[in-house]
Amino acid sequence: MTTVSATLERLVKAGSGVNANKCYQCKRCTAGCPVAGYAGMHPAQIMRAVQLGQLDMILDDRFIWLCTGCQTCTTRCPQEIDVAAVMDELKILARRKGRVHPGAPSAAMLKLNYDSFVRWGRMWEVELIARDALKRPSGVTEWLALGPKMLLKGKINPTLKRGDTLAMERMVKTAESITKARANRAGDGGAA
Ligand code: SF4
Ligand code: SF4
Repeated sequence: MTTVSATLERLVKAGSGVNANKCYQCKRCTAGCPVAGYAGMHPAQIMRAVQLGQLDMILDDRFIWLCTGCQTCTTRCPQEIDVAAVMDELKILARRKGRVHPGAPSAAMLKLNYDSFVRWGRMWEVELIARDALKRPSGVTEWLALGPKMLLKGKINPTLKRGDTLAMERMVKTAESITKARANRAGDGGAA
């Protein structure tokens, strides 16, 4: 059972504005989802779990971290539910509770991206690759194969070019205050 102090449906609605209770399990979201077959759960099951308050069930599975945000589910839903926004909100909840799934390296990569943006005002690919290699030694061979190709195509800039770090700092502060306000509105208090 979930241990959140407010119901999961309420938390999701407070953060994303989406009413998960409108879902009637037609599974059109699942049928169009490009990653539905790569985890234990699929989008329609996630929606049902939200309705039933089964946060642990969702966080024990890696599906939300495989979600690419492609919005196919959202465009297909006959109830006009923004399913992709629900997935985003669940990722926020998972991070807040320290429950990033270990079987989803993309989750760690998203965090490295974010940290790089905050530090330099833009993403610095070289730092990203180095930090990923430190955290995930098995990824070194992938980078050795991909890195030179990306470099030749200009996808990696070997030199650091700072972006607007002050603007980034302001954005981070604004995002943090919005997240906190949403959690407070839902009665979760933003606690991990
Ligand atoms: S498409 Fe919409 S109504 Fe159908 S299962 Fe998915 S979220 Fe529920
Ligand atoms: S946004 Fe996520 S859940 Fe929706 S179809 Fe795309 S990958 Fe699947």
